[in-house]
Amino acid sequence: MSLLEVTDLGVQFQTGDGVVSAVNGVNFTLEQGKTLAIVGESGSGKSQTVFSIMGLLAQNGWATGSVKFNGLEILNLPEQGLNKIRAEKIAMIFQDPMTSLNPYLKVSEQLMEVLMLHKGMGKAEALEESIRMLDAVKIPEARSRVHLYPHEFSGGMRQRVMIAMALLCRPKLLIADEPTTALDVTVQAQIMDLLSDLQRDFGTSIILITHDLGVVAGSCEDTLVMYGGQVMEYSPTEELFKNPAHPYTRGLLAAIPRLDHIGDRLNTIPGNPPNMLHKPDGCPFAPRCDYATDQCKQQKPELLAFDGRQRACHVPLEALK
Ligand code: SF4
Repeated sequence: MSLLEVTDLGVQFQTGDGVVSAVNGVNFTLEQGKTLAIVGESGSGKSQTVFSIMGLLAQNGWATGSVKFNGLEILNLPEQGLNKIRAEKIAMIFQDPMTSLNPYLKVSEQLMEVLMLHKGMGKAEALEESIRMLDAVKIPEARSRVHLYPHEFSGGMRQRVMIAMALLCRPKLLIADEPTTALDVTVQAQIMDLLSDLQRDFGTSIILITHDLGVVAGSCEDTLVMYGGQVMEYSPTEELFKNPAHPYTRGLLAAIPRLDHIGDRLNTIPGNPPNMLHKPDGCPFAPRCDYATDQCKQQKPELLAFDGRQRACHVPLEALK
């Protein structure tokens, strides 16, 4: 049985201009101890996909389909059941650590509270465990720094504190939503290494949400590429980098800055993501795609399997340059 099984997931929002379909027919599975990257530009539906899994959609939103965690349906669970799952089984970290950390409380108080509430620990035991976890996320001098306030840490160190807090209850699944976007490149790499180490040490499965395919290579087994609320490509990451099977994936890969091309203009994908209120009838990527045909503009491509991978594109793979 897979740790997470997402089937035909859809997310809609009621807005003043009508119903917006932000996510359509998303399917994926995640095994224990594995990492999945969900990649796409802003508005691709990647964050709403995980927010629906966590029961964190905005009040005007609703989710359809099925999300099974360890075989149990968790989509649209009542708040009480979700709170237990969110605290103990699935944890989430965000781009901005201050979303999760209270600026008015010392880190020690915030970490200890989680352990006392969810693990029933006494104060002394909770403090020792908090220090152990700060050590595990490689915060130097954890024993003294546990008593600092969040603003007394650098951005990268605050991100580590947030990861420590997310892992306190040893969740089976960690969802990281753009965890390195606000950090410089060196600290980004350190945080990605840290997540890989923690995955190995704690056996945690990870879903990494990012707009940057560059952070995915080497750290995620599988990658799901989303655009306009739909899955465009779903593939083992190594294969996806070796032979991207979708024009959008090719565009994202070409946009990764390269150290051996210093001074060159950065590649971009021309145009803008679709207006989700007025999505094109056919392929959502058609207005920006160099390969678009009349069929692409009229008919939405289905996600079809090939060689253990999946792609949604009318144009045969061999025709992509
Ligand atoms: Fe481009 Fe057509 Fe493929 Fe869409 S279906 S990605 S428009 S070639």
